[in-house]
Amino acid sequence: MQLVCPAGNLPALRTAIDAGADAVYLGFRDQTNARAFPGLNFDDNEIRQGIAYAHARGRQVYLALNTYPDSARLAHWHRAVDQAAELGVDAIIAAEMGVLDYACRTHPKLARHLSVQGSATTAPALRYAFERFGIARAVLPRVLSVQQVERLCQNAPIPLEVFAFGSLCIMVEGRCQLSSYVTGASPNRHGVCSPARFVRWDEHDGGERSVRLNDVLIDRFQPEEPAAYPTVCKGRYGVGGEIFHALEEPTSLNTLELLPRLAQAGVAALKIEGRQRGAAYVDAVTRTWRAAIDRHRVAPEAWTAQPAWQNTLSAHAEGHQTTLGPYHRAWH
Ligand code: SF4
Repeated sequence: MQLVCPAGNLPALRTAIDAGADAVYLGFRDQTNARAFPGLNFDDNEIRQGIAYAHARGRQVYLALNTYPDSARLAHWHRAVDQAAELGVDAIIAAEMGVLDYACRTHPKLARHLSVQGSATTAPALRYAFERFGIARAVLPRVLSVQQVERLCQNAPIPLEVFAFGSLCIMVEGRCQLSSYVTGASPNRHGVCSPARFVRWDEHDGGERSVRLNDVLIDRFQPEEPAAYPTVCKGRYGVGGEIFHALEEPTSLNTLELLPRLAQAGVAALKIEGRQRGAAYVDAVTRTWRAAIDRHRVAPEAWTAQPAWQNTLSAHAEGHQTTLGPYHRAWH
């Protein structure tokens, strides 16, 4: 299985490659990708340097063009596809049909991966994207159980990539309206959930902190309580007389214990989430998964998830907690 790691900037890209990533994924410094945070992403020159660094070591670079343009701005996404082809990335990762169609017609030799944001959860949906847009790979949404992933591996016409580790985006990928409902800025169109300019932290007497997104209270933290970046889905709300994480716990997906099962199923690539995270995260998480994948390749029968690997991953998880998320939910 290929290990695909996040690169929010050039130092993170080099770190990921040095730590053993088979491929990195990155984005332009604009709203064409779903991590349009200030200070992140790449200009053309940095992408050229990143590609040179990766290719010199036999690794690949994928470019995320995975937001949904509105028709007035479609030309900007088309230019981004042209630019990706000119720069020589190994593949683009796209979700919107107009973007995929343009790429397929205009740059047929530029490999296309269907983004997680494309929300393809069935074999017919994957077959349609393959036949219509010639996708070379699809990234599955993080809403599927492991049994569903296994079935898709048997029936999909193209190799599949799944998320292995990182923050969870719990809604049907590419369809969440929570952040845009609260802020008016859509993650799917503008590339960032809970934009930092809408986030306000207040400290109160006794050290309690509260966090608001565009003046909507989404959580309160006790003085020593760890607090992750605030998103609406992971806030605590009053429901039925109780205050709790009504939608999702602040926790990270960690599928390490499923690695043998995903390998057996024929998953082609494991993706690490976190272009918004620093080089220390990229280094530790990439090295851990590299070691786990390599150990499994050499001795699959003897493979177990080492406690040291799990400890490292937990230390870099959101809220220091991990979950198998939908991979193991019985209600599927
Ligand atoms: S609010 Fe949560 S589920 Fe919705 S886009 Fe943001 S992280 Fe994803």
